[in-house]
Amino acid sequence: MTIDNSWTLFLDRDGVMNEEIKDGYVLQWEMFRFSEGVLAAMPLLNARFGRIVITTNQRCIGRGLLSEEGLKVIHTHMLNEIRLHGGRIDAIYHCPDVNNDSPCRKPQPGMAMQAQAEFPEINFSKSIMVGNTMGDMKFGKQLGMKTVFIPSTKPETPFPNPMIDFKCDNLLEFSKIIQ
Ligand SMILES: [Mg+2]
Repeated sequence: MTIDNSWTLFLDRDGVMNEEIKDGYVLQWEMFRFSEGVLAAMPLLNARFGRIVITTNQRCIGRGLLSEEGLKVIHTHMLNEIRLHGGRIDAIYHCPDVNNDSPCRKPQPGMAMQAQAEFPEINFSKSIMVGNTMGDMKFGKQLGMKTVFIPSTKPETPFPNPMIDFKCDNLLEFSKIIQ
């Protein structure tokens, strides 16, 4: 697979960019820990993909545990750290809703549509979704993307798997494979 700057990378956040908190949520910057290799991976990914966006389900907002403003503060810190390490995220989309059938909650495609509205050049058949759940894999597959599974929290997920095109231990391994 040849990736050039006409391609878009969709990244999940929890369990991909940062350590997922078991049975809980990242509710403040002090609770946010980048996953191994992420800061080193970002500039390598930026060198390949034209656009890199994050799509993240943040049900903690709908549950009243975190405010929109609080999420923005966490993301500002995250983007600053990535920038200090020479990387760039073009946009972050989040779904605050609690209900599994919310149109913006993955695996529903709402956040991908938001991204395409903001960046009309996004072509889903030239996009890759990286995530750590089957919801992420369905989100990508339904839109015609390639999917990359990171087994950070669900190592028992069967592979080979019709929903998963590639499996990588972490984002840094993925970034090296596509160079
Ligand atoms: Mg996740």
